Amino acid sequence: MRADVAIVGGGIVGSSIAYHLARTGRAGDVVVVERDPTYEHAATPRSNGGIRRLFSLPENIEMASHGLAFYRDFADEMAVDGERAEIEFRSQGYLFISDAGGAAQMEENFALQERMGVEVELLTPGALAARFPSVSPRGVDLAVLSEHDAWIDPHAALMGFRRKARSLGARYVTGEVIGLDADSVAVRAARLRDGTTVTADTFVNACGAWCAALGAMVGLDIPVEPMSRESCFFTCADPIEPLPLIKTETDLAFRPEGAGYAGGVPDWSEPAGWNFDISPTWFEEVVWPALARRIPAMERVRLERSWRGHYARSALDYSPILGRWEGGLENLVLANGFSGHGIMHAPATGRGIAELIVDGDWQTLDLSCFSYRRIREGRPYRERGIV
Ligand SMILES: Cc1cc2nc3c(=O)[nH]c(=O)nc-3n(C[C@H](O)[C@H](O)[C@H](O)COP(=O)(O)OP(=O)(O)OC[C@H]3O[C@@H](n4cnc5c(N)ncnc54)[C@H](O)[C@@H]3O)c2cc1C
Repeated sequence: MRADVAIVGGGIVGSSIAYHLARTGRAGDVVVVERDPTYEHAATPRSNGGIRRLFSLPENIEMASHGLAFYRDFADEMAVDGERAEIEFRSQGYLFISDAGGAAQMEENFALQERMGVEVELLTPGALAARFPSVSPRGVDLAVLSEHDAWIDPHAALMGFRRKARSLGARYVTGEVIGLDADSVAVRAARLRDGTTVTADTFVNACGAWCAALGAMVGLDIPVEPMSRESCFFTCADPIEPLPLIKTETDLAFRPEGAGYAGGVPDWSEPAGWNFDISPTWFEEVVWPALARRIPAMERVRLERSWRGHYARSALDYSPILGRWEGGLENLVLANGFSGHGIMHAPATGRGIAELIVDGDWQTLDLSCFSYRRIREGRPYRERGIV
């Protein structure tokens, strides 16, 4: 099989890249190789789908701002044959709570967010309690509310990208890449488990938390590891006012979802690696007490179901790795290591990688700060807000 651009991995990142390439009309044949079109283990459908601009790095704020605007118009923009691509875009805000000594950093981030045009509000503990009566201000130093941030159904967004990319001519091939053939100049072909070979001028690594394995096929070291995260859906017996997505420095993160709430608390003691097993005690021993401390009405919650998904986390700095394999085979393009931000960053990543391939460089937003060069040089570019 021959393509101009072969994208390995058809999750939300690979599919956004495929869509953005196809819509230029200048990318030639775009092929997406995805081994599992049901996406059973992919991160995308297991995520919270949050989009927020509460970051400390300007590029993260700009990428998320673009993501927010893009997803707001998604249903119409990604319609195919008049059928809208609904993604349940819900603009209910993000609330960051400082309860572990990080108030000065949060205030610094707030100033940057404001300078960059985000409508953010600094809340004292008293103002927090007045705004959200169900949230306990106990132990809170400061909070920041970004009222127009949002969340979406990430699986629906993935399907929307896929459908639109295909309607514009991108081809999806079901298959697992088990080898990359390269010479000293370029990657030449991807070999699939069923014996098919895909040759292309440009290859894109969009393999999510599996990206290091793809890199290793051509001797490229991508320091990205899978980090297992347990999430749960729970309901609350007592009525609570509409809440934004709440994230605290003490690691509680949850948001309204249907008739209940979705979220959890990460277990930082868990080593990197694949783990889809649900802990029998984590909700009861860790998540529930954390919920009840911050939202006293959540003393009476019921766990409905739990699941696990994996962050693709860069061991250097938790920031994404974007762009050509500098210093190596430069027709291999990386879109890896999104940690907990790949949904909100997928639109800006797709647009940027498409520009890089079609125009030869970043155009609308310079994302060179996230290039592979910093990995080679061991120069972290790290987010200092709550991750
Ligand atoms: C619990 C949790 C909550 C999250 N919450 C948020 C959030 O609120 N907001 C946000 O922006 N982000 C969030 N994220 C992060 C987000 O889900 C990811 O960053 C994003 O989904 C990554 O998309 P991806 O396309 O890179 O990876 P994936 O969705 O994992 O897709 C990668 C694809 O590559 C395929 N693949 C891998 N290797 C091969 C191969 N060799 N051959 C062929 N195919 C291959 C896989 O089958 C897979 O489908 C969360 C993640 C988790 C786990």
